[in-house]
Amino acid sequence: RQNARESLYIILNFAKNFYLQQLHNTDEGQSIGLSYFRERGFTNDIQKKFELGYSPDTWDAFTKEALNKGYTADILEKAGLLIHKEGSQTAGYDRFRGRVIFPIHNVAGKVIAFGARILKTDKSGKGASQPKYLNSPETEVYHKSDILYGIFQAKNAIRQQEACYLVEGYTDVVSLHQAGIENVVASSGTSLTIEQIRLIGRFTPNITILYDGDVAGIKAALRGLDLVLEEGLNVSIVLFPDGEDPDSYVRRVGAEAFKEYLKKASKDFITFKTETLLQDAGNDPFRLAALIGEVVNSIIKIPDAIKRQVFFHRTSEMMKVDEQMLISEGNKLLRKLH
Ligand code: ATP
Ligand code: MN
Ligand code: MN
Ligand code: MN
Repeated sequence: RQNARESLYIILNFAKNFYLQQLHNTDEGQSIGLSYFRERGFTNDIQKKFELGYSPDTWDAFTKEALNKGYTADILEKAGLLIHKEGSQTAGYDRFRGRVIFPIHNVAGKVIAFGARILKTDKSGKGASQPKYLNSPETEVYHKSDILYGIFQAKNAIRQQEACYLVEGYTDVVSLHQAGIENVVASSGTSLTIEQIRLIGRFTPNITILYDGDVAGIKAALRGLDLVLEEGLNVSIVLFPDGEDPDSYVRRVGAEAFKEYLKKASKDFITFKTETLLQDAGNDPFRLAALIGEVVNSIIKIPDAIKRQVFFHRTSEMMKVDEQMLISEGNKLLRKLH
Protein backbone atom coordinates (compact mmCIF):
# COMPACT_ATOMS: atom_id res chain seq x y z
CA ARG A 1 0.00 0.00 0.00
CA GLN A 2 2.56 2.50 1.18
CA ASN A 3 4.82 1.57 -1.75
CA ALA A 4 1.97 1.83 -4.23
CA ARG A 5 1.18 5.34 -3.01
CA GLU A 6 4.84 6.30 -3.00
CA SER A 7 5.24 5.29 -6.64
CA LEU A 8 2.17 7.33 -7.57
CA TYR A 9 3.70 10.41 -5.93
CA ILE A 10 6.86 9.83 -7.92
CA ILE A 11 5.14 9.54 -11.30
CA LEU A 12 2.87 12.51 -10.52
CA ASN A 13 5.91 14.59 -9.67
CA PHE A 14 7.54 13.45 -12.89
CA ALA A 15 4.42 14.52 -14.78
CA LYS A 16 4.40 17.90 -13.06
CA ASN A 17 8.00 18.47 -14.14
CA PHE A 18 7.16 17.36 -17.68
CA TYR A 19 4.31 19.91 -17.91
CA LEU A 20 6.55 22.63 -16.44
CA GLN A 21 9.28 21.84 -18.93
CA GLN A 22 6.76 21.85 -21.78
CA LEU A 23 5.46 25.26 -20.74
CA HIS A 24 8.83 26.94 -20.43
CA ASN A 25 11.15 25.14 -22.81
CA THR A 26 9.14 24.37 -25.92
CA ASP A 27 7.87 26.63 -28.70
CA GLU A 28 4.35 25.28 -28.36
CA GLY A 29 4.35 25.73 -24.59
CA GLN A 30 5.62 29.28 -24.81
CA SER A 31 3.43 30.47 -27.65
CA ILE A 32 0.26 28.83 -26.37
CA GLY A 33 0.57 28.09 -22.65
CA LEU A 34 2.73 30.97 -21.46
CA SER A 35 0.83 33.50 -23.51
CA TYR A 36 -2.43 32.16 -22.09
CA PHE A 37 -1.19 32.71 -18.53
CA ARG A 38 0.14 36.11 -19.48
CA GLU A 39 -3.19 37.12 -20.98
CA ARG A 40 -4.83 36.16 -17.71
CA GLY A 41 -2.32 38.39 -15.96
CA PHE A 42 -0.50 35.67 -14.04
CA THR A 43 3.06 36.74 -13.22
CA ASN A 44 6.03 34.38 -13.53
CA ASP A 45 6.34 34.27 -9.76
CA ILE A 46 2.76 33.20 -9.26
CA GLN A 47 3.03 30.60 -12.04
CA LYS A 48 6.07 29.19 -10.25
CA LYS A 49 4.39 29.16 -6.87
CA PHE A 50 1.55 27.01 -8.23
CA GLU A 51 3.83 25.04 -10.57
CA LEU A 52 1.56 25.75 -13.52
CA GLY A 53 2.35 23.85 -16.69
CA TYR A 54 1.29 22.94 -20.20
CA SER A 55 0.38 19.60 -21.79
CA PRO A 56 1.23 19.50 -25.50
CA ASP A 57 -1.45 18.97 -28.10
CA THR A 58 -0.43 15.45 -29.12
CA TRP A 59 -1.86 12.02 -28.38
CA ASP A 60 0.95 10.57 -26.36
CA ALA A 61 3.98 12.84 -25.89
CA PHE A 62 3.84 12.43 -22.12
CA THR A 63 3.17 8.68 -22.19
CA LYS A 64 6.11 8.09 -24.56
CA GLU A 65 8.46 10.12 -22.40
CA ALA A 66 7.35 8.35 -19.23
CA LEU A 67 7.62 4.86 -20.79
CA ASN A 68 11.07 5.85 -22.05
CA LYS A 69 12.11 6.72 -18.53
CA GLY A 70 11.03 3.28 -17.37
CA TYR A 71 7.61 4.01 -15.85
CA THR A 72 5.10 1.30 -16.66
CA ALA A 73 1.82 1.82 -18.49
CA ASP A 74 0.12 0.31 -15.46
CA ILE A 75 1.42 2.95 -13.04
CA LEU A 76 0.63 5.74 -15.52
CA GLU A 77 -2.94 4.51 -15.67
CA LYS A 78 -3.19 4.19 -11.89
CA ALA A 79 -1.97 7.78 -11.59
CA GLY A 80 -4.76 8.90 -13.92
CA LEU A 81 -2.32 10.13 -16.55
CA LEU A 82 -2.88 7.50 -19.20
CA ILE A 83 -6.16 6.49 -20.77
CA HIS A 84 -6.10 2.92 -21.97
CA LYS A 85 -9.06 1.62 -23.94
CA GLU A 86 -10.02 -1.96 -23.21
CA GLY A 87 -8.77 -4.27 -25.98
CA SER A 88 -6.61 -1.61 -27.62
CA GLN A 89 -3.22 -2.75 -28.96
CA THR A 90 -1.43 0.45 -27.98
CA ALA A 91 -0.37 1.53 -24.50
CA GLY A 92 -2.99 4.28 -24.64
CA TYR A 93 -3.00 8.08 -24.83
CA ASP A 94 -2.36 11.06 -22.58
CA ARG A 95 -5.32 12.18 -20.49
CA PHE A 96 -4.23 15.82 -20.68
CA ARG A 97 -3.61 17.18 -24.17
CA GLY A 98 -3.35 20.76 -25.34
CA ARG A 99 -4.30 22.25 -21.99
CA VAL A 100 -2.81 24.46 -19.32
CA ILE A 101 -2.13 22.48 -16.18
CA PHE A 102 -2.89 23.26 -12.53
CA PRO A 103 -1.17 20.69 -10.28
CA ILE A 104 -3.20 19.82 -7.18
CA HIS A 105 -1.07 19.42 -4.05
CA ASN A 106 -1.91 17.69 -0.80
CA VAL A 107 -1.39 19.43 2.55
CA ALA A 108 2.24 18.28 2.61
CA GLY A 109 2.90 19.71 -0.85
CA LYS A 110 3.00 16.50 -2.86
CA VAL A 111 1.31 16.57 -6.26
CA ILE A 112 -1.67 14.22 -6.16
CA ALA A 113 -3.66 15.22 -9.26
CA PHE A 114 -4.08 17.80 -12.00
CA GLY A 115 -6.74 20.17 -13.19
CA ALA A 116 -6.38 21.05 -16.85
CA ARG A 117 -8.03 23.93 -18.67
CA ILE A 118 -8.86 24.13 -22.32
CA LEU A 119 -7.36 27.20 -23.97
CA LYS A 120 -10.27 28.63 -25.88
CA THR A 121 -13.83 28.82 -24.69
CA ASP A 122 -16.89 30.29 -26.37
CA LYS A 123 -19.07 32.94 -24.72
CA SER A 124 -20.96 30.43 -22.59
CA GLY A 125 -17.63 29.45 -21.09
CA LYS A 126 -17.76 25.99 -22.61
CA GLY A 127 -15.36 24.64 -25.19
CA ALA A 128 -16.71 23.80 -28.60
CA SER A 129 -16.83 20.09 -27.85
CA GLN A 130 -14.68 19.49 -24.80
CA PRO A 131 -15.25 20.34 -21.16
CA LYS A 132 -13.56 23.56 -19.99
CA TYR A 133 -11.75 21.76 -17.19
CA LEU A 134 -10.56 18.18 -17.09
CA ASN A 135 -9.53 16.66 -13.80
CA SER A 136 -7.57 13.62 -12.77
CA PRO A 137 -9.88 10.73 -11.92
CA GLU A 138 -10.05 9.36 -8.38
CA THR A 139 -6.85 7.46 -7.65
CA GLU A 140 -5.22 5.88 -4.65
CA VAL A 141 -3.75 9.26 -3.68
CA TYR A 142 -6.48 11.59 -4.99
CA HIS A 143 -9.89 11.67 -3.42
CA LYS A 144 -11.55 14.76 -4.79
CA SER A 145 -13.91 15.11 -1.86
CA ASP A 146 -11.06 15.16 0.70
CA ILE A 147 -8.90 17.90 -0.74
CA LEU A 148 -9.11 21.60 -1.45
CA TYR A 149 -7.10 23.21 -4.22
CA GLY A 150 -4.43 25.50 -2.83
CA ILE A 151 -4.38 24.19 0.73
CA PHE A 152 -0.60 23.63 0.66
CA GLN A 153 0.09 27.18 -0.55
CA ALA A 154 -2.52 28.66 1.82
CA LYS A 155 -2.13 26.83 5.10
CA ASN A 156 0.37 29.15 6.78
CA ALA A 157 -1.59 32.24 5.81
CA ILE A 158 -4.83 30.64 7.03
CA ARG A 159 -3.25 30.03 10.45
CA GLN A 160 -1.76 33.51 10.60
CA GLN A 161 -4.91 35.35 9.54
CA GLU A 162 -7.14 32.98 11.51
CA ALA A 163 -9.45 32.93 8.51
CA CYS A 164 -9.90 31.06 5.27
CA TYR A 165 -11.53 32.16 2.03
CA LEU A 166 -13.22 29.50 -0.01
CA VAL A 167 -13.63 30.10 -3.75
CA GLU A 168 -14.95 27.96 -6.59
CA GLY A 169 -12.12 27.81 -9.09
CA TYR A 170 -8.39 27.25 -9.59
CA THR A 171 -7.91 30.64 -11.20
CA ASP A 172 -9.64 32.37 -8.29
CA VAL A 173 -7.02 30.92 -5.94
CA VAL A 174 -4.12 31.90 -8.19
CA SER A 175 -5.43 35.44 -8.80
CA LEU A 176 -6.08 36.14 -5.15
CA HIS A 177 -2.57 35.00 -4.18
CA GLN A 178 -1.26 37.40 -6.75
CA ALA A 179 -3.34 40.14 -5.15
CA GLY A 180 -1.73 39.34 -1.80
CA ILE A 181 -4.62 37.33 -0.40
CA GLU A 182 -3.01 33.98 0.40
CA ASN A 183 -5.50 32.40 2.81
CA VAL A 184 -7.64 31.00 0.03
CA VAL A 185 -8.60 27.53 -1.20
CA ALA A 186 -10.98 26.24 -3.88
CA SER A 187 -13.64 23.58 -3.78
CA SER A 188 -13.14 23.16 -7.56
CA GLY A 189 -16.75 23.53 -8.49
CA THR A 190 -18.34 20.91 -6.26
CA SER A 191 -20.37 21.46 -3.12
CA LEU A 192 -18.42 21.28 0.10
CA THR A 193 -17.93 17.93 1.76
CA ILE A 194 -17.54 17.24 5.44
CA GLU A 195 -13.93 16.16 4.84
CA GLN A 196 -13.12 19.47 3.17
CA ILE A 197 -14.73 21.38 6.01
CA ARG A 198 -12.67 19.45 8.55
CA LEU A 199 -9.57 20.13 6.51
CA ILE A 200 -10.15 23.87 6.87
CA GLY A 201 -11.09 23.35 10.52
CA ARG A 202 -7.59 22.00 11.19
CA PHE A 203 -6.28 25.50 10.54
CA THR A 204 -9.07 27.92 11.49
CA PRO A 205 -12.72 28.01 12.61
CA ASN A 206 -13.43 31.05 10.44
CA ILE A 207 -14.42 30.54 6.85
CA THR A 208 -15.69 33.04 4.30
CA ILE A 209 -17.25 31.77 1.13
CA LEU A 210 -16.57 33.76 -2.02
CA TYR A 211 -18.84 32.25 -4.62
CA ASP A 212 -19.46 33.33 -8.19
CA GLY A 213 -22.14 35.97 -8.70
CA ASP A 214 -24.46 33.74 -10.66
CA VAL A 215 -27.49 31.64 -9.74
CA ALA A 216 -25.35 28.52 -9.46
CA GLY A 217 -23.02 30.34 -7.07
CA ILE A 218 -25.85 31.49 -4.80
CA LYS A 219 -27.45 28.05 -4.78
CA ALA A 220 -24.13 26.47 -3.98
CA ALA A 221 -23.64 28.96 -1.17
CA LEU A 222 -26.95 28.02 0.44
CA ARG A 223 -26.54 24.32 -0.12
CA GLY A 224 -24.52 22.23 2.25
CA LEU A 225 -23.59 25.07 4.55
CA ASP A 226 -25.58 23.64 7.45
CA LEU A 227 -22.81 21.03 7.47
CA VAL A 228 -20.25 23.74 8.10
CA LEU A 229 -22.31 25.14 10.97
CA GLU A 230 -22.60 21.68 12.48
CA GLU A 231 -18.82 21.43 12.55
CA GLY A 232 -18.81 24.53 14.73
CA LEU A 233 -17.20 26.75 12.12
CA ASN A 234 -18.15 30.40 11.69
CA VAL A 235 -19.34 30.88 8.15
CA SER A 236 -19.61 34.14 6.27
CA ILE A 237 -20.48 34.78 2.66
CA VAL A 238 -19.49 37.31 0.04
CA LEU A 239 -21.38 37.34 -3.23
CA PHE A 240 -19.91 38.95 -6.31
CA PRO A 241 -21.79 41.04 -8.86
CA ASP A 242 -23.62 38.96 -11.45
CA GLY A 243 -21.26 37.37 -13.92
CA GLU A 244 -18.12 38.03 -11.86
CA ASP A 245 -15.98 35.69 -9.86
CA PRO A 246 -13.15 36.55 -7.45
CA ASP A 247 -10.59 36.27 -10.26
CA SER A 248 -12.39 38.58 -12.69
CA TYR A 249 -13.37 40.99 -9.93
CA VAL A 250 -9.92 41.40 -8.42
CA ARG A 251 -8.46 41.92 -11.88
CA ARG A 252 -11.06 44.58 -12.65
CA VAL A 253 -10.94 46.60 -9.42
CA GLY A 254 -7.45 45.84 -8.06
CA ALA A 255 -6.25 44.34 -4.80
CA GLU A 256 -7.11 47.23 -2.46
CA ALA A 257 -10.67 47.75 -3.68
CA PHE A 258 -11.13 44.01 -3.60
CA LYS A 259 -10.17 43.81 0.06
CA GLU A 260 -12.52 46.69 0.82
CA TYR A 261 -15.30 44.84 -0.96
CA LEU A 262 -14.65 41.74 1.12
CA LYS A 263 -15.06 43.75 4.30
CA LYS A 264 -18.16 45.57 3.12
CA ALA A 265 -20.01 42.72 1.42
CA SER A 266 -19.26 39.96 3.91
CA LYS A 267 -22.30 38.57 5.75
CA ASP A 268 -22.56 35.77 8.23
CA PHE A 269 -24.28 32.75 6.75
CA ILE A 270 -27.45 32.92 8.85
CA THR A 271 -28.05 36.57 8.00
CA PHE A 272 -27.34 35.88 4.34
CA LYS A 273 -29.71 32.95 4.27
CA THR A 274 -32.45 34.88 6.05
CA GLU A 275 -32.14 37.84 3.68
CA THR A 276 -32.11 35.67 0.58
CA LEU A 277 -35.16 33.71 1.70
CA LEU A 278 -37.01 36.87 2.75
CA GLN A 279 -36.48 38.33 -0.71
CA ASP A 280 -37.79 35.16 -2.32
CA ALA A 281 -40.84 34.96 -0.07
CA GLY A 282 -42.06 38.48 -0.63
CA ASN A 283 -45.36 38.95 1.23
CA ASP A 284 -46.63 35.40 0.84
CA PRO A 285 -47.45 34.30 4.42
CA PHE A 286 -47.07 30.60 3.63
CA ARG A 287 -43.63 31.10 2.18
CA LEU A 288 -42.74 33.34 5.11
CA ALA A 289 -43.77 30.58 7.50
CA ALA A 290 -41.69 28.06 5.57
CA LEU A 291 -38.65 30.30 5.63
CA ILE A 292 -38.86 30.72 9.39
CA GLY A 293 -38.61 26.96 9.66
CA GLU A 294 -35.61 26.92 7.33
CA VAL A 295 -33.75 29.58 9.26
CA VAL A 296 -34.43 27.95 12.61
CA ASN A 297 -33.25 24.69 11.12
CA SER A 298 -29.88 26.27 10.31
CA ILE A 299 -29.53 28.00 13.66
CA ILE A 300 -29.99 24.80 15.64
CA LYS A 301 -27.03 23.30 13.75
CA ILE A 302 -24.70 25.68 15.58
CA PRO A 303 -23.19 23.73 18.49
CA ASP A 304 -22.44 26.80 20.62
CA ALA A 305 -25.45 27.90 22.73
CA ILE A 306 -24.38 31.54 23.00
CA LYS A 307 -23.97 31.88 19.24
CA ARG A 308 -27.36 30.23 18.75
CA GLN A 309 -28.91 32.78 21.08
CA VAL A 310 -27.34 35.66 19.17
CA PHE A 311 -28.79 34.37 15.90
CA PHE A 312 -32.25 33.72 17.31
CA HIS A 313 -32.27 37.33 18.42
CA ARG A 314 -30.89 38.73 15.18
CA THR A 315 -33.14 36.76 12.84
CA SER A 316 -36.28 37.36 14.88
CA GLU A 317 -35.75 41.06 14.21
CA MET A 318 -35.07 40.50 10.53
CA MET A 319 -38.15 38.34 10.07
CA LYS A 320 -40.25 40.44 12.47
CA VAL A 321 -41.32 37.47 14.56
CA ASP A 322 -41.15 36.78 18.27
CA GLU A 323 -37.76 35.57 19.48
CA GLN A 324 -39.24 33.19 22.07
CA MET A 325 -41.33 31.58 19.34
CA LEU A 326 -38.17 30.93 17.28
CA ILE A 327 -36.41 29.44 20.28
CA SER A 328 -39.25 27.10 21.08
CA GLU A 329 -39.49 26.09 17.40
CA GLY A 330 -35.77 25.37 17.58
CA ASN A 331 -36.22 23.23 20.69
CA LYS A 332 -39.02 21.31 19.03
CA LEU A 333 -36.84 20.58 16.00
CA LEU A 334 -33.95 19.55 18.24
CA ARG A 335 -36.11 17.07 20.13
CA LYS A 336 -37.19 15.54 16.81
CA LEU A 337 -33.53 15.14 15.81
CA HIS A 338 -32.40 13.43 19.01
P1 ATP B 1 -12.05 30.26 -15.79
O1 ATP B 1 -11.92 31.57 -15.09
O2 ATP B 1 -10.75 29.67 -16.19
O3 ATP B 1 -13.04 30.26 -16.88
P2 ATP B 1 -13.43 29.31 -13.42
O4 ATP B 1 -12.62 28.70 -12.32
O5 ATP B 1 -13.98 30.66 -13.23
O6 ATP B 1 -12.55 29.17 -14.74
P3 ATP B 1 -16.07 28.13 -13.31
O7 ATP B 1 -16.86 27.83 -14.51
O8 ATP B 1 -16.49 29.25 -12.43
O9 ATP B 1 -14.58 28.26 -13.82
O10 ATP B 1 -15.99 26.78 -12.46
C1 ATP B 1 -15.40 26.74 -11.17
C2 ATP B 1 -14.58 25.48 -11.02
O11 ATP B 1 -15.37 24.34 -11.30
C3 ATP B 1 -13.39 25.33 -11.97
O12 ATP B 1 -12.25 26.01 -11.52
C4 ATP B 1 -13.19 23.86 -12.01
O13 ATP B 1 -12.49 23.39 -10.87
C5 ATP B 1 -14.61 23.34 -11.94
N1 ATP B 1 -15.14 23.10 -13.30
C6 ATP B 1 -15.68 24.00 -14.12
N2 ATP B 1 -16.07 23.45 -15.29
C7 ATP B 1 -15.78 22.14 -15.18
C8 ATP B 1 -15.93 21.00 -16.05
N3 ATP B 1 -16.45 21.12 -17.26
N4 ATP B 1 -15.51 19.80 -15.57
C9 ATP B 1 -14.97 19.67 -14.34
N5 ATP B 1 -14.78 20.70 -13.50
C10 ATP B 1 -15.18 21.91 -13.90
MN1 MN C 1 -19.57 29.87 -11.89
MN1 MN D 1 -13.21 32.56 -13.73
MN1 MN E 1 -15.66 31.12 -11.93
